[in-house]
Amino acid sequence: LNLYISDIEISRAQIPKPVNQLAEEVGLLPEELEAYGRSKAKVCLSLLDRLHTQPDGKYVLVAGITPTPLGEGKSTVTIGLVQALSAHLSLNSFACLRQPSQGPTFGVKGGAAGGGYAQVIPMEEFNLHLTGDIHAITAANNLVAAAIDARMLHEATQSDKALFNRLVPSVNGVRKFSPIQFSRLQRLGIDKTNPASLTPEEVTSFVRLDLDPSKITWQRVVDTNDRFLRKITVGQANTEKGQIRETGFDIAVASEIMAILALADSLEDMKNRLARMVVGTSRSGQPVTTEDLGVSGALTVLMKDAIKPTLMQTLEGTPVFVHAGPFANIAHGNSSVLADKLALKLVGRDGFVVTEAGFGADIGMEKFFNIKCRASGLRPNVVVLVATIRALKMHGGGPNRHKPKDIPSLYLNLSLVAAGCHSNLKKQIQIAHLFGIPVVVALNVFKTDTQAEIDLVCEIAKGCGASDAVPCNHWAQGGRGSIKLAQAVNEAASRPSNFQFLYNIEMPIADKIRTIAQKVYGADDIELSPAAKDKIDYYNQQGYGLLPICMAKTHLSLSHMPDKKGAPTGFVLPIRDVRASIGAGFIYPLVGTMSTMPGLPTRPCFYDIDLDPVTGEITGLF
Ligand code: ADP
Repeated sequence: LNLYISDIEISRAQIPKPVNQLAEEVGLLPEELEAYGRSKAKVCLSLLDRLHTQPDGKYVLVAGITPTPLGEGKSTVTIGLVQALSAHLSLNSFACLRQPSQGPTFGVKGGAAGGGYAQVIPMEEFNLHLTGDIHAITAANNLVAAAIDARMLHEATQSDKALFNRLVPSVNGVRKFSPIQFSRLQRLGIDKTNPASLTPEEVTSFVRLDLDPSKITWQRVVDTNDRFLRKITVGQANTEKGQIRETGFDIAVASEIMAILALADSLEDMKNRLARMVVGTSRSGQPVTTEDLGVSGALTVLMKDAIKPTLMQTLEGTPVFVHAGPFANIAHGNSSVLADKLALKLVGRDGFVVTEAGFGADIGMEKFFNIKCRASGLRPNVVVLVATIRALKMHGGGPNRHKPKDIPSLYLNLSLVAAGCHSNLKKQIQIAHLFGIPVVVALNVFKTDTQAEIDLVCEIAKGCGASDAVPCNHWAQGGRGSIKLAQAVNEAASRPSNFQFLYNIEMPIADKIRTIAQKVYGADDIELSPAAKDKIDYYNQQGYGLLPICMAKTHLSLSHMPDKKGAPTGFVLPIRDVRASIGAGFIYPLVGTMSTMPGLPTRPCFYDIDLDPVTGEITGLF
């Protein structure tokens, strides 16, 4: 076994089985499959109806300890685990993964198909356009942005009557409201069906969204780390008649539409959520939605194929759903509810669905439980908590990034490992237990790790309440290297779990934030800025108080301070601002500044990416 060959070489050495063969193996009917090329296919949601009486399989969440900036291997553990469950223990299993953004692929982190002998293949298809879902999100998001600016221009330059005549055109001498316009009229409290019967005041409130340009929260998106788009000015051509304003771009995966794709549990639910998105506030302080803009139906049309999960396979030919990829900082960082639901039906009662939550358990797992499980109604059986010795040494007091000069003092440093286990690992196990779910610690083994260190981590993890703790060698060995993990997960899944949410949804917004800060992050309290307090009051007035909380916090520490490793205590969590994603269905408090558009480093990953025109082979995607 040559450990020095690259991920893409490993991926390419394995020819994937045709996707229709894979689909047949997992129990899909030919009419439930829409192939995109040879090795990936979208799966129709009608499957949920066909299998609705089938019991769900066991549901496993892969989360992690607080990571180093390199990532500790949650994706590789997820893939290694399903490879072990399916190919080595003969238990049906499915992995559900997020689709990676092109930002990190060409930027700093690289692809996200796993690594070594635990990968989704073909990894270049996984990492690049896949089946176009992110492009659909980009198109939908930017249609909303175009609708906002065009509507403001038209309202600024036309009379009420002219606007009304254009918005409700006369066909054969008769004006009729469209269904989307009826919804707007109902929300305005105008109970009329005949356009001719509106009073002049009613016409004004119907045609004028009267968006306050300084209170537009909707941004444009692109799936590239293009930092120069963070702040832009639009409307500078003469044709826009002076409607100039500052706005900006986010990376596409930070779009609210991505969060909706991940949380919707049917086409109808997605449509309703796409209609509820708030894009800004009117001058009189009322929220303006995508439905008010008349664009929500078109958004649903743009997203109609994106809602279907994409079927792919691991290196060992076991099935994977790739679907949605919301950022874990300003969104909830989990793959889609629909992929999990479809997979749970396909694996059947004794099978396993392994899904992954972004960043550390304090972020991705907390949001998985409090946001995703609330939306889906699903309850996991086991949490797999991924740890690495390099991250544990960092939490125990070692350096943030290992430099060659650090290696001698770090090598076989059992006291750093023990300190990291007793701080961050212990705390993350306790966080999973707050939700009443058993935890199996998966120690992702690197070739520099020693047996003494590995044994120590497993011993301490069990002492901290983990049901089991096992070393995993999937990166070097594939599923064979994760058999112990698969056995431990199978064992833990047979134990009764006692799931509970962390907070009651009816608690006031500030109390929900405080509960997460104190119980999950270990803060003494929270401190709300005046802007945050005002926003909370406004959201309560608008009836948004019953939404769950999606904290936007650094993933590099349990606290808001990226340099504070281990399990910090004695701090007050500052809440700078509070925002709302009404369509996705959460309130997101901002803890410090979060970038929604990454930049490129001096030497981005794209320097190494190339295509051989003779063989057609891609190189450099790791
Ligand atoms: P996460 O999902 O937690 O961000 P990944 O699974 O994507 O982490 O892994 C991050 C990177 O580390 C990937 O490039 C992966 O190939 C590499 N990696 C993961 N586990 C190992 C390991 N045991 N040995 C060497 N490299 C690894």
